[in-house]
Amino acid sequence: LVERMRPFTSTIFAEITALATRTGAINLGQGFPDTDGPRLILDAAAAAIHSGRNQYPPGPGVPALREAVAQHQKRFYGMDVDPESEVLVTAGATEGIAATIMALCEPGDEVVTFDPVYDSYAASVALAGAVRRTVTLRWPDFAVDEIELRAAFGPRTRVVLLNSPHNPTGTVFGRATLELIAELAREHGAVVVTDEVYEHQVYDDAVHVPMATLPGMSEQTVTISSAGKTFSVTGWKVGWLHGPAELVAAARAVKQFLTFVNAGPLQPAVATALGLGDDFYRSLATGLRAKRDLLCDGLRAAGFEVSVPRGTYFVVADAAPLGFDDGVELCQRLPELAGVAAVPVSVFYDDPDAARSLVRFAFCKRDDVLREAVDRLGRLG
Ligand code: PMP
Ligand code: GLN
Repeated sequence: LVERMRPFTSTIFAEITALATRTGAINLGQGFPDTDGPRLILDAAAAAIHSGRNQYPPGPGVPALREAVAQHQKRFYGMDVDPESEVLVTAGATEGIAATIMALCEPGDEVVTFDPVYDSYAASVALAGAVRRTVTLRWPDFAVDEIELRAAFGPRTRVVLLNSPHNPTGTVFGRATLELIAELAREHGAVVVTDEVYEHQVYDDAVHVPMATLPGMSEQTVTISSAGKTFSVTGWKVGWLHGPAELVAAARAVKQFLTFVNAGPLQPAVATALGLGDDFYRSLATGLRAKRDLLCDGLRAAGFEVSVPRGTYFVVADAAPLGFDDGVELCQRLPELAGVAAVPVSVFYDDPDAARSLVRFAFCKRDDVLREAVDRLGRLG
């Protein structure tokens, strides 16, 4: 294995899921729902398979899906996106991120990222031979520090790789923070690559503001999202990106030699999904908010300190009040101690000390499963 990929031989999500499966623990580690998405879209996928849509789809993606992505961006954010030249369908958000970074970064170029960082970002930056410059989000509010942000930019900054709503912290970046990032990106001629896979999972008074809607930013932003989270079909691996035609063409040049095309029969089904009514999107968020509250209350009752997320389906909790100072060790033992699996947060930080005793739990699970998990965790203390 080449040196630059050696730190990435396994993923924490796969490790924890394997541990949960081996021990029969309730898996609140890896973020995937335990209930499939709407019947309508499962039927649409089956119908596409049975009606013979099983060969290579067009390079940029099935036209109906590109059109649906453009309409979705118009409907929710008022953006004008040309489905012909400004949308690319990818194998999940993961491929969209990798293809974009590889398309934009020369070896030695710098990519500003925010710790805790989603694991594939660091790997994609490494694959491109680029270098990460880190801004650290700190417990318990995980806000962006302006001085640290400014210091992360320099003459070699090529990309800012942003994720809001943010996994794992559940932070939703506010307009002021986004404006500051936009200003610095403009100043340094950097492209903002924004991963918005949790765009419909926001709670309370939080509002998801896409970076590309800020004044002047649609010209230098690549927006990435995916069907996995919004429609509870994480195994389909259908994502998309959109942005100015030149940037989309650049990402497409790389994508065509990573996977060429992907998931032909699932693409029309995702087009159907994106067109679901407002009720669907509303109940997704209300349902998850109730689950968030159930889990946060349970974790607090069990003795954890909790940072209540305003987005995503993850909650970060501090296990130190329970006497556990090492989240990595706790997550290895939690299945045996409590019959529950969770993910340590320190593995997403360059500086593990910023998150020593923090663990992440996913709440995209059935209520009865969450109640059982909370009961079990209640016996920890
Ligand atoms: N970005 C973030 C922040 C994620 O949490 C995930 C996990 N789903 C992904 C990207 C990957 O999405 P996909 O499965 O569509 O590749
Ligand atoms: N995004 C999911 C999470 O954060 C995991 C996806 C994966 O396993 N790569 O849990």
